[in-house]
Amino acid sequence: MKKIAIFPGSFDPFTVGHASIVERGLPMFDEIVIGVGINENKRALYSPEERVKAISELYAGEPRVRVVAYNDLTIDLARREGAQFILRGLRSVKDFEYERDIANMNQRLSGVETVLLFTEPHYSSISSSVVRELIAFGKDVTDFLPRK
Ligand code: ADP
Repeated sequence: MKKIAIFPGSFDPFTVGHASIVERGLPMFDEIVIGVGINENKRALYSPEERVKAISELYAGEPRVRVVAYNDLTIDLARREGAQFILRGLRSVKDFEYERDIANMNQRLSGVETVLLFTEPHYSSISSSVVRELIAFGKDVTDFLPRK
């Protein structure tokens, strides 16, 4: 059976930190489905369509990575995609409790297991929200965005 993982997130925008998780996840899974979560309550910089397009272009040469938008639960996306795993990155203790609660709930509700990768130290301070803030004030963020 193919091992498929969902990598869920807002990805507003997709950063080098996210790309590192995908790259490190690829040897563990046959396929990674990047799930761009649509959250009507979060004010986004980029539309879900823009985010899906940008991330898809990034992985155009990698057939084992697909990108989809979704607006329901990650476990429902996992069921639709036939995924047995959820892949997430862990930057700090602040991320830890949140990830643990969601991972436990997802496992209990669906049996889908969460695989957490510690962020590489040099990426641990990079977040989409900081990058959005820099963009809003006209700063150069190319160092934080993956190269095509
Ligand atoms: P969410 O809104 O669900 O937190 P994000 O788009 O912020 O989604 O992040 C998606 C996933 O990527 C999360 O597991 C998050 O911990 C991870 N992530 C975010 N930034 C980094 C980073 N700099 N390095 C590694 N993982 C990261």
